[in-house]
Amino acid sequence: MKSFPALALAVLVILSYANSIFVLGAVDPDPLQDICVADLKSEVIVNGFPCKDAMMVTADDFLLKGLDKPGDTSNMLGFVVTPASVMQLPGLNTLGISLVRLDFATPLGLNPPHTHPRATEILVVIEATLLVGFITTNNTLISTKLEKGDVFVFPKGLVHFQQNIGSVNAVAISALSSQNPGTQQVAQTLFGASPPVDAYVLAKAFQIDAKLVQLLQNKFKFS
Ligand code: MN
Repeated sequence: MKSFPALALAVLVILSYANSIFVLGAVDPDPLQDICVADLKSEVIVNGFPCKDAMMVTADDFLLKGLDKPGDTSNMLGFVVTPASVMQLPGLNTLGISLVRLDFATPLGLNPPHTHPRATEILVVIEATLLVGFITTNNTLISTKLEKGDVFVFPKGLVHFQQNIGSVNAVAISALSSQNPGTQQVAQTLFGASPPVDAYVLAKAFQIDAKLVQLLQNKFKFS
């Protein structure tokens, strides 16, 4: 009869292990204390940021102002992100969540194809009309048009984009499931890497001439 509890314990251990691998392991680690305001100046290197001295914590560590203000979209994409991640809002450290404001110029301001390696993104349109989409790992495009008030989800790690197809400047707010989601813009990552990716690697990957690769590398080098 003693074997039953042992078996039950073994099953529990296996289940909790599987849970940590397949569920909890897929998001930022859980906090181990109520608060851990990021000490952004610490020289200690850890996963995330060390906690600021609790005696020094104030409400300002949990407050970021200014997301009501439009970002400057005067760039080649007609698009800008205003982040509220752990770097701007140290109180987010260890909490596994963040926010961004997205501004799109009219016409056709574009958040180009990109991924967030550490986060799922849920977006709500505040103003204008967006064409949005993401691409699954079997290259299926999931895409639609969003109007003011519409909410759309971009699954973790998948390449996605948003474009203003309305007649006024577009605004959206996105929440992301990481204190530090990270962003890799596909074109910028491949053609703007420093030092540059060998042109013949990209030429073969894209099935284009190496001279065209160099032209693209020059375009993305300073953007
Ligand atoms: Mn995104």
